[in-house]
Amino acid sequence: MSAEIYGPEHRIFRETFRRFVANEITPNVPQWEKDGAVPRELWLKMGEQGFLCPWIPEDMGGLGLGFEYSVILNEELIKGDAYGFGVPLHSDVAVPYVESYASDEIKEQWLPKCISGEAIACIGLSEPGTGSDLAAIRTKAVKEGDEYVISGSKVFITNGILADFCVLACKTDPSAGHRGTSLIFVPLDLPGVKRRALEKMGSHMQDTAELSFDEVRVPLGNLLGKEGEGFKYMMAKLQRERLEVCIKSQVMAEECFKEGMEYAKERKAFGKPIGDFQANAFKLAEMATDIEFGRTFLDSLINDFINGVDIVQRVSMAKYWLGEMVNRIAYSALQLHGGYGYMEEYRICRLYRDVRALSIYAGTSEIMKLIVARNMGFSPM
Ligand SMILES: Cc1cc2nc3c(=O)[nH]c(=O)nc-3n(C[C@H](O)[C@H](O)[C@H](O)COP(=O)(O)OP(=O)(O)OC[C@H]3O[C@@H](n4cnc5c(N)ncnc54)[C@H](O)[C@@H]3O)c2cc1C
Repeated sequence: MSAEIYGPEHRIFRETFRRFVANEITPNVPQWEKDGAVPRELWLKMGEQGFLCPWIPEDMGGLGLGFEYSVILNEELIKGDAYGFGVPLHSDVAVPYVESYASDEIKEQWLPKCISGEAIACIGLSEPGTGSDLAAIRTKAVKEGDEYVISGSKVFITNGILADFCVLACKTDPSAGHRGTSLIFVPLDLPGVKRRALEKMGSHMQDTAELSFDEVRVPLGNLLGKEGEGFKYMMAKLQRERLEVCIKSQVMAEECFKEGMEYAKERKAFGKPIGDFQANAFKLAEMATDIEFGRTFLDSLINDFINGVDIVQRVSMAKYWLGEMVNRIAYSALQLHGGYGYMEEYRICRLYRDVRALSIYAGTSEIMKLIVARNMGFSPM
């Protein structure tokens, strides 16, 4: 994010969080990668320091900080090697639905816990049968007396193993297409909820789960907002989620580039640094140019988002472009490392694996292009 957006208070916050990451997170990443999850204590420590959901207004127990602070947290986690850690998903993707649409009772009970780390959130949109086409979800919530009875399953759910509740997309009226979609707040310790951890290509320290719901009963008051409005809420909130993924893509591209640059200067072949071969120097020049374009685009989006400008079209463009760009940069930076790039002890190896999902989750590159093209007046299928 460009320097002028930051004041001294942002810099202090960044420094404090950077120290926290250096002391509490980075040294433990290799172990958590092996464990396939971070310990709950880390969430509690983050909460204690005010690093979870810092945007929640003060009258709801939060710090009432601007989106810039979410950007700082996201950036510093990546720089400190915690690329896969599901804090942004909790703080900036799932919890905002609760803050915007939950009943006062749910907010009073759960938001303080989301801030302290006692409650971890996840969001369940994707299903085994559909991810891109959210109007086709089949998890259903049927009214019985003063309860919803929920049956169905969700897949690829970030934080799904550790989470205490899920913002769950369900069909309350299966005959009404996307207008029959509602969001329901579902605590995950209820009878009928099952979780299965999924093994992934990358982001190993992040737990990802399949969740199944077998006649799970929640009070009607757990509905988020209004019945049938779920699709509208998702479309509104997905912009923030996509912006988060853009930030991640850009910062991970910058980290890959840094690794490539350093290696190109120190590694010698045929008697000179490999960066001095024209093919490699030109590749690094291309990477630097991509990163410069990405940073400029991203900063202008962050600025617009903070100022309340509608970013639907541009964030869709950025999500696809940055998601593809970071994959190109990771590929080239690994190639510069030769055989060492394929070895776990080199940082680029993990970066390469972990960037792969950036062009997939929160809407694939193809779906982003679909949105952009539709806004340009075309009707692609
Ligand atoms: C690491 C990770 C974490 C995730 N976390 C979450 C989470 O916390 N919560 C959650 O709900 N989901 C999560 N997801 C799911 C993610 O959002 C979906 O994987 C994504 O939206 C794509 O859906 P799909 O996998 O079903 O692919 P599909 O929709 O089956 O698509 C398959 C392919 O077809 C292409 N395609 C589909 N439709 C079109 C079209 N109209 N035109 C052109 N191409 C098309 C897609 O781009 C893709 O390449 C996560 C995924 C991953 C990998």
